[in-house]
Amino acid sequence: MFPFYTLQNIETAARQSPPARLAVFGDPVGHSLSPQMHNPALTACGIDAGYVRLQVKTDEFLPALRVLRDLQFIGANVTIPHKFTALDSVDEVEPAARRLGAVNTIIFRPDGSSLGRNSDGPGFVRTIQEEFQTPVKDLRILLLGAGGGAGGAVAVQSALEGCRQLILTNRTESKAQALASTLSDLLPGDRCRTIPWTADALREVLPEVDLIINGTSLGMSPDDPPLLPEGSLSGRHLVYDMVYKPLVTPLITAARQAGARAINGLPMLLWQGAQSFEWWFHRPAPVEAMRSGLTEAVEGVPAA
Ligand code: NAP
Repeated sequence: MFPFYTLQNIETAARQSPPARLAVFGDPVGHSLSPQMHNPALTACGIDAGYVRLQVKTDEFLPALRVLRDLQFIGANVTIPHKFTALDSVDEVEPAARRLGAVNTIIFRPDGSSLGRNSDGPGFVRTIQEEFQTPVKDLRILLLGAGGGAGGAVAVQSALEGCRQLILTNRTESKAQALASTLSDLLPGDRCRTIPWTADALREVLPEVDLIINGTSLGMSPDDPPLLPEGSLSGRHLVYDMVYKPLVTPLITAARQAGARAINGLPMLLWQGAQSFEWWFHRPAPVEAMRSGLTEAVEGVPAA
């Protein structure tokens, strides 16, 4: 757990050096890795501002927005459980964030109004482009875990990009079906469909997909069951595990053993952070400074 501020003492943070001008709202918020990513970025760019954690309850969200605006904050990130509250609390929501169903980035504009955006979607697109050198639109995608917030955001963004095909599966199948029905305007016909989460159904579709995404929390514990049937991965697959603790999950190990390219959840944390930074400062994010800060935070040792 790392130190955090509350609405009662955030003014102290705004008066320190460098002055806090960015925050992540959450409850709990001590686990957020955003300060370790954004503070090195601010330093690298010579910006006299700091990024802090701010613990706010749901009923404090609106007052928190007012307090931060009055303290001349540039913006904020929003994490659990406020991503949905933020949709109804900011003055304006960007249409893509509305479609993703959540706000994770707030920008305070010069007139004092707040704009809500979502960098998870663009962060996912940049992750796939940067790490696999492939645009999302060219891919046939299998999403495991279409029932959660992270999987949902990735599914909507894949559909917005016009991916070739999107196959959704989830332990609770009805959630995958509900999500698929909201995407039928973007991916008509069978370009978006669901399959049951069974070994047979997975074996049948895996030869037809390019990118496999784990949007579940399976893989965080060594006792978790395997996500895919044994031997079903091949060297032509791209595998993206959204889990980042541990950095090498059983899915990543299985993918590499099959000769497939595989990445963990850290790049998406990085690229969504870089996107937020660019919205706040209208300049390219110092990605390597952010990557080092994040790696150090996750591994607990300085990045090489
Ligand atoms: P969430 O909203 O709680 O969703 C959890 C998802 O996992 C649901 O689809 C759920 O299925 C499924 N699931 C949970 N336990 C399962 C099990 N035992 N067997 C099969 N499916 C199971 O969580 P979230 O916020 O979306 O996070 C999901 C994962 O993404 C976590 O590992 C999180 O750390 C990671 N994440 C990564 C990033 C990043 O930037 N890399 C960002 C956010 C989250 P049901 O619908 O059936 O319950």
